[in-house]
Amino acid sequence: MNNFNTRPPSPGIIAVANQKGGVGKTTTVVNLGAALAMLELNVLVVDLDPQGNASTGLGYETGYRAGGIADVMFGDMRMEDACAKTKIDRLQTITSSPGLSSVDIDQAENPARATILRSAIDRSDLSEFDIMLIDCPPSLNLLTVNALVASDSVLVPLQAEYYALEGLSQLILTLREIRQSANPRIEIEGILLTMFDRRNRLSRQVEADARANLGALVYETVIPRNVRLGEAPSFGLTVLQYDPKSTGAIAYRALADEFIHEAGKRKKQ
Ligand code: ADP
Ligand code: MG
Repeated sequence: MNNFNTRPPSPGIIAVANQKGGVGKTTTVVNLGAALAMLELNVLVVDLDPQGNASTGLGYETGYRAGGIADVMFGDMRMEDACAKTKIDRLQTITSSPGLSSVDIDQAENPARATILRSAIDRSDLSEFDIMLIDCPPSLNLLTVNALVASDSVLVPLQAEYYALEGLSQLILTLREIRQSANPRIEIEGILLTMFDRRNRLSRQVEADARANLGALVYETVIPRNVRLGEAPSFGLTVLQYDPKSTGAIAYRALADEFIHEAGKRKKQ
């Protein structure tokens, strides 16, 4: 990863991915993005999920909006022209586009279909940003593949529940394929335990298994189950604005600190 203190000319690009839905990808993108912006990094959140939950969480309606990610990937708009401001300084977003949901079918015949986002990044000027976080859909479809091909690393939220680790092995296989083909440099940025309930024996067991099997890849910071995290998006707010003292806000600020300080130390498979 880049050293974030030295303002790299192009942002560190991190895909937030897990093919399971409801594990905390979008919540992590929005709130980690906000917490990093509050630490004075210039952050771009790219909403690559047709459901547009990250866009909504950052205050944008879902539905067609000129300058969404589809205009960048399938039109000729440059990313810097698609960036929209949010209520948080230094945090901008490129919103999702509903048309994304048919991408697998629309691009089936396109031999360059896995590198559409990478090409869009290459023809854009993103020098204003330190970090780009890409919110992936809950599937290992073409959109997620595009995110992984375009990224330096992947951050994987893992819900502290049974079978969590089994889903992870499928993602790791996909990462290996991507390393052997379109993006040899992709690394695992970190694995984040989400919706953690310390009183729940299963949560503690999943944490122990993850740490035993994946070691330093697992963030020390754990995101607790916290209703405030679920309430904030319906107001178009991140939890850091909605309830800055909540356990969810405290955890995402701690994650941002750990993220900055640990970047570059996790170059493991
Ligand atoms: P994904 O993007 O992986 O599908 P989300 O981030 O949208 O997952 O989370 C799924 C649901 O769970 C959402 O309603 C979200 O608000 C809620 N949620 C996410 N993280 C937490 C948490 N730590 N505690 C409580 N609810 C959470
Ligand atoms: Mg999501």
